[in-house]
Amino acid sequence: MVHDSLGGPASAGLACHASPPPPDSDMLAAYHRLSIYEVRGIMTLLTQDSLATDARDRPLPIVRTRCDGQTIKFSQRTADGHEFESVIVPMGEPGNAWRTLCVSSQVGCARACTFCQTGRMGLIRNLTVDEIVGQADAARQKFGVSIRNVVFMGMGEPMDNLDNVVAAIRQFHEDRRNQIARRRITVSTAGRCDGIRRLGQLGWKRMGLAVSLNAPNDDIRSQIMPINKSDPMDKLRAAIADYPIRAGGHVLIEYVLIAGLNDRPDHARQLAEYLRGLPTCVNLIPYNPCDGIDYRTPGAEVVDEFQQILMAAGQLAFRRNTKGRNALGACGQLGHPPPQVASSGQPLKVIS
Ligand code: SF4
Repeated sequence: MVHDSLGGPASAGLACHASPPPPDSDMLAAYHRLSIYEVRGIMTLLTQDSLATDARDRPLPIVRTRCDGQTIKFSQRTADGHEFESVIVPMGEPGNAWRTLCVSSQVGCARACTFCQTGRMGLIRNLTVDEIVGQADAARQKFGVSIRNVVFMGMGEPMDNLDNVVAAIRQFHEDRRNQIARRRITVSTAGRCDGIRRLGQLGWKRMGLAVSLNAPNDDIRSQIMPINKSDPMDKLRAAIADYPIRAGGHVLIEYVLIAGLNDRPDHARQLAEYLRGLPTCVNLIPYNPCDGIDYRTPGAEVVDEFQQILMAAGQLAFRRNTKGRNALGACGQLGHPPPQVASSGQPLKVIS
């Protein structure tokens, strides 16, 4: 009976989708020991895998591309007419260059950080697992690049779509096309503490965690990041302290420097004090100007002084090279301000 089912219509369908190699004698012997139900289960899994592969051969259409010669920002459109963005960032030096893909996890974002273009859109919807992973497929197929690192720093708060983000990380890691090691994947959050703890429970110590902090104290943070009202800095510090990281590793602290707001020398001292004893590295990001947002970029000497104060206090800190600024793909620059309009011409529903 088992043999009949292997040779019947089900296997013909399988061959059509997946064309597996002929089973060797050990495999056939194993099949003969399985029940019809077990064989049907295997067939279903293999067929689903091949269908998923077919879908991944056709990533969502790219409707906009912007390139500054190195960095490429592209937008894909979902079947229901929403757009989301990804950025391909060249890294390394000539002779040892690679690409990092900055992926989106949502269309828009509910978190409304005041310095962020995406935050002005409101949340439109979560991206599915295929829409997240498909960003790498689109980058590979359309631009012919191979992706070595993936960072969840595009549109959206990954912790607000954590089930799909975790499933996507599994696919990035396990999928035969990507095979991106978890140590080459970083999830960035605005500081949702229950999400940090859930992610920590997975025990993926080699995967990177980045926290977008952007302020040295609760007063300033609450002004620019509404999430600070539910997840203030003490609570956030405890979540970071409990997060499991590999020996010698660190949590990346992202700090967007905004002129006159969070860039003073006493802010640097406060920040160093807040982070004292935590395994962290601060990434200083001079604010990237955005249309319609009235913040200014601090001067280079202000950024240098801020970094020097952190370093003198024993806090590891570096300044991000602003690759991507010309492609409007740097931090806080993905997305469009409202109103968003679907391909139908109707305004999109904002549910934040
Ligand atoms: S910075 Fe991140 S969390 Fe904040 S609004 Fe923008 S996308 Fe959302």
